[in-house]
Amino acid sequence: MSAVKFQRTSKCPECKKKVIWSIDNIYKPFCSKRCQLLDLGSWVSERHFIPGPELNDSDLEVDD
Ligand SMILES: [Zn+2]
Repeated sequence: MSAVKFQRTSKCPECKKKVIWSIDNIYKPFCSKRCQLLDLGSWVSERHFIPGPELNDSDLEVDD
């Protein structure tokens, strides 16, 4: 008797909780919206640490 359906599971990258991999899970690979937002938040804050080229007014050529 094998009435058990195979359920594909995955681990939430944020909280490492077991996530059932189904089309109903719109937050995959995360377990919830909270974890999805947390991951997005950390990604955004990481980007803030990357220094971009500084633009100085003196670098701009102004024809007067
Ligand atoms: Zn999670």
